[in-house]
Amino acid sequence: MLIGEPPPSQGDLHFRILGIPVRVHPFFWVVAVLLGLTGNNERPVQLIIWVIAVFVSILVHEMGHALTARSYGWQPWVTLYGFGGLASYHPTQQDARSRIVIAAAGPGAGFLFIALVMAIVHASGHAVSIERANLLPYWVFFDYFGGQEANNLDLLVSDLLYINIFWGLVNLLPVYPLDGGQIAREMFLQSNPQEGMKQSLWLSVLTGAGLAIFGALTLQSLFMALFFGYMAYTSYAMLQMYSRGGPGMGGPQW
Ligand SMILES: [Zn+2]
Repeated sequence: MLIGEPPPSQGDLHFRILGIPVRVHPFFWVVAVLLGLTGNNERPVQLIIWVIAVFVSILVHEMGHALTARSYGWQPWVTLYGFGGLASYHPTQQDARSRIVIAAAGPGAGFLFIALVMAIVHASGHAVSIERANLLPYWVFFDYFGGQEANNLDLLVSDLLYINIFWGLVNLLPVYPLDGGQIAREMFLQSNPQEGMKQSLWLSVLTGAGLAIFGALTLQSLFMALFFGYMAYTSYAMLQMYSRGGPGMGGPQW
């Protein structure tokens, strides 16, 4: 895969959470800042809050994969890098069910985390509601801690909501190497062991290309066009490789 683990670097940050080793490659911070600059983060403090929200959210997501892998008796480790995060593990035995559960546990951990955050917001006396919205049909709203104007805490909660819910749902789309793409592959392989891999790759190419066009034309988002366009392209390249009997598609969980 084009997005495997990066080699060790001088700027790597190492720590452990719940016994699971975590490595943060310096490009993780670079990409988080660049993504923040494309949003509405005009003030430096807004940018710092955004980077914190990205760091916490991706860590929660990867820990969801890693802890689930460990519950199957496998040794996991987490890498945060320029393409987001990776949870890798040494599998002793793999079956489709466990791979689906591990893949779903990433977005699942994000949804649980944001439910906990909103429960804390609610418990601190600030109304939380689900109302009709634009980007998605419905969205979670809350009364600002800062009153009329959003303060830094409100910005943090808003960023966490956006990353964990919006990107959690995007991650479940059937596009490689997103978690949804991995889940789709397992399901296609279950129903058709011979053709399942090809079918799931074609689904990935078409969904990725469709979302790239939608992102470019409807949302006018260059980022979304490049993000899904690149995935559609790599899916197509994998399809070519797979048709020629190339290497398999195991590997770390994005
Ligand atoms: Zn994931």
